[in-house]
Amino acid sequence: MPDQRPNILFIMSDDHAAHAMSCYGSRINQTPNLDRIADEGMRFENCFCTNSICTPSRAAILTGTYNHINGVTTLSTHMDNRLPTFVKDLRASGYQTGMFGKWHLGQGAAHEPTGFDEWAVLPGQGLYHNPTFIFPTENGSEKRPVPGYVTDIITDMSLDFLRARDSERPFFLMCHHKAPHRAWEPDEKHAHMYLNEDIPEPPTLYDEYANRASAAEAAEMRMGLHHQPLDLKCEIPHDLPERELRKWAYQRYIKDYLRVVASIDDNVGRLLDYLDAEGLAENTVVIYTSDQGFFLGDHGWYDKRFMYEESLRMPYIMRYPAGIAAGSVNQDMVLNVDFAPTYLELAGLPPQPAMQGRSFAPLLAGECPPDWRESMYYRYWMHKTHHNVYAHYGMRSHRYKLIYYYADALGTAGSIDESYTPEWELFDLEADPYELNNIVDDPQHAELVVTLKAELHRLQADVGDERYHLDVN
Ligand code: CA
Repeated sequence: MPDQRPNILFIMSDDHAAHAMSCYGSRINQTPNLDRIADEGMRFENCFCTNSICTPSRAAILTGTYNHINGVTTLSTHMDNRLPTFVKDLRASGYQTGMFGKWHLGQGAAHEPTGFDEWAVLPGQGLYHNPTFIFPTENGSEKRPVPGYVTDIITDMSLDFLRARDSERPFFLMCHHKAPHRAWEPDEKHAHMYLNEDIPEPPTLYDEYANRASAAEAAEMRMGLHHQPLDLKCEIPHDLPERELRKWAYQRYIKDYLRVVASIDDNVGRLLDYLDAEGLAENTVVIYTSDQGFFLGDHGWYDKRFMYEESLRMPYIMRYPAGIAAGSVNQDMVLNVDFAPTYLELAGLPPQPAMQGRSFAPLLAGECPPDWRESMYYRYWMHKTHHNVYAHYGMRSHRYKLIYYYADALGTAGSIDESYTPEWELFDLEADPYELNNIVDDPQHAELVVTLKAELHRLQADVGDERYHLDVN
């Protein structure tokens, strides 16, 4: 008797912001194949990461725990591959499991993928063209280059896994794209898109960081000013005034970003076509997400890390004809730590006791449990390294966001040990959706600040994280 549990195809890209997907109302591109998932399934409007950077978000997804629990707080703290993950439970219960593409949780015997029947991963960030992959061997692993374009290759490997599968058992497949991560190198097929047009600019491209904590102005991720020649594939005219430099750099940056996104979209289409052709679409859960959001010129920036909306929000669309109504939209707050218990529930398995996320399987049927979360906890640990972003934590409710830049490495590996006076920010997301006006010191919001700080500290205690020693209120 074949195992009737659903297959799960988990497609995750790297640094793909929701506002570069047409199903999320993008003003700058079209993603027809990603839109198929949203149109035939559910679009989550409020899916957030708990730490907006690659390695930590990936560890949170696999383990269902926050980074102070799984130990993967920064890019330098690689995941111990003996940790329990939902994939290991799926495999033990009879799923055939595969992982292809970007892993970015460390290399070597202590960090390479475990819990997968088959895998092949990029070392570290990996390359766009003719990338080297790490393949498992009898005694460990070996590296081999694979000719071609990385997004096509990862999809080819995923399709090979599907073709070779045992059709009597369900599968769980992670198809993890490198794209659209820096340095945004398009393939030949998409290199000529947008050549003779200007991409619309985001409303905050010329942000001057007035009335924000000093962290915003200190960040080194501005269009043109902090780009490298490799990012823009040309020399950077640093003699331009900053406003003109941003305007110029934005076009070069965003066009390459959207070109690599177009390749992802095509390749997602190939996977969806395969499911259709094999009659698998009905009983396969298809997810498309990204490890965090990204600044697409918003606030004049590229990159992520901040708790600001563009970086905090993960695109998350999910199709499951047997269990999700087509064209549905969900506004409830879901987090990357929720993925693990959700997929376990869909496979008829209980969550692991240590998992901190909560299954959102009921939301798929349009039922929100009455005690579903109304606020979430966030923490970015990697103080200063790479883009001079200060370490911070905070809470977001549906309406407000409170951020505390404690601005201290706290001895965390991968951080720079230089601390600053902590600062708070509070945004009213209803009145100020672009987060330009920090109202934390406004006397008329004094009571609100007290309430939100208490909520932040409650969330922090709830997940077992520690408050910074100068966060005394
Ligand atoms: Ca990433």
